[in-house]
Amino acid sequence: MPFLQELGVHLSPSEHLPCCGIRSMWGSGEVQTQDFIFQPFGVGYHLDRKLFDAQLLEAAVQQGAQVLTPASVLQTQRVETHWETQVQYQQQFRVVKSSWLIDATGRARKLSRILKREAYFLDEMSAFYAMLEEPAHEDLDDFTSLEAVENGWWYTARLANNRRIVAFHSELSLLQTLAIKKPSHFFELLNKTQWIGPLVNKAGYQKTIGLKSTSANTSLNLGLPIPGMLAAGDALMTFDPLSGQGITNAFYTGILAGKTIVNETSDRETALKDYSDAISTVYSLYLRRLHTAYGAESRWPGSVFWQKKVRQLEAVIVQAT
Ligand SMILES: Cc1cc2nc3c(=O)[nH]c(=O)nc-3n(C[C@H](O)[C@H](O)[C@H](O)COP(=O)(O)OP(=O)(O)OC[C@H]3O[C@@H](n4cnc5c(N)ncnc54)[C@H](O)[C@@H]3O)c2cc1C
Repeated sequence: MPFLQELGVHLSPSEHLPCCGIRSMWGSGEVQTQDFIFQPFGVGYHLDRKLFDAQLLEAAVQQGAQVLTPASVLQTQRVETHWETQVQYQQQFRVVKSSWLIDATGRARKLSRILKREAYFLDEMSAFYAMLEEPAHEDLDDFTSLEAVENGWWYTARLANNRRIVAFHSELSLLQTLAIKKPSHFFELLNKTQWIGPLVNKAGYQKTIGLKSTSANTSLNLGLPIPGMLAAGDALMTFDPLSGQGITNAFYTGILAGKTIVNETSDRETALKDYSDAISTVYSLYLRRLHTAYGAESRWPGSVFWQKKVRQLEAVIVQAT
C-alpha cells in the first residue's frame, strides 16, 4: 500500500481486521474465490473507519498540516487572488484565507455546491445495510462475500469487535418498490439468498440497531474549471461499491491535487490539464471495468436491474469514445 507508506501510516492487524480475499456468487450459482495471496500486497483490510480517519489526520499533523476539527465549512468566496472560507469551529466562526481550495468533503461536495459546480450522476445506486453482532465470537471468516440476486447484489464482511456488515445494493426506485427499508423485508430478502443469508445465519449473528442507507452512485464532478479550486476523492468522483475503488482513488486524487498545486506555480496550463486528463483516464477505465463486472451476470435476462445497469454503462462508454 504505497499511498499509506508515503503518508507514514501503518495498518496493524490488531486494529484493522485483515481481509484474505473476495468470494462471490456472481454469474453462476458457484462460489468463486479471489485470494489476495496472489495480489502484490498479499492482504487487504476491513478498516475500522473511525480509527483509520484518525490515523490519517494524525499523519497530516505530523507532516505539518494545521487541523481544525471538528469543523464545518459554511461558505467560501474568491476575493481577488485568494479564497476566504467561513468555518464553524468550536462554536465559533472563523475565516480561513488560502490561495487554493480543495473540495475533499466526500459525497457532500460542499465546496463545489457552494460554488455551483455541477456534477454528472450516472445512476441512482443506493445501499441499505445492517450491523450485526456475534455473541459467540466464533466466526473466523476473513473474506469479503458478494452474491448477485435478481434485483441487485448483497455484500457481507466481518469487522473488528465481532461485528459483521450486511448490505444490499440496487437502484433507489427498486429499493423503494421492495420496501427494503423495513428491517423485516430486508432480513426476509437476505434469508432468500442462496449463500450469504445462510453464511450470516450459521454464525449466529444478532440484529442490532435499525437499518441505515447510503448513496452508492457513480458520479463525476468535472465541470468548468474554477480558478484556484480543485476537487479530490468522492467530492470529485464517486464509484459503485462493487469496484472497491473509492479509498484508493481518494488517496490518488488527493496526492495528485497537492502535486498539481505545487506544479501550477511553475507551469499553470500543463499542471491543470494533467490533473483533468488523469481523472478522465481513471473514470473511463472504471466504467469499462464496471461494465465487464455487471455484464458477467446473465442469469436473469428479464431483470430490470441487470438490464438497466448494462444499458446505462454501454451508453456512457459509447459517449466517451
Ligand atoms: C456502501 C459503500 C461501500 C463502500 N465500500 C468501499 C470499499 O469496500 N472500499 C473502498 O475503497 N471504498 C469503499 N467505499 C467508498 C469510500 O468510502 C469513499 O470512496 C471514501 O471514503 C472517499 O474518501 P473521501 O475522503 O473523498 O470522502 P469521505 O471519506 O466521505 O470524507 C469526507 C470528509 O469531509 C467531511 N465534510 C463533509 N462536509 C463537510 C463540511 N461542510 N465541512 C467540513 N467537513 C465536511 C466529512 O465529515 C468527512 O470527514 C464505499 C462507499 C459506499 C457508499
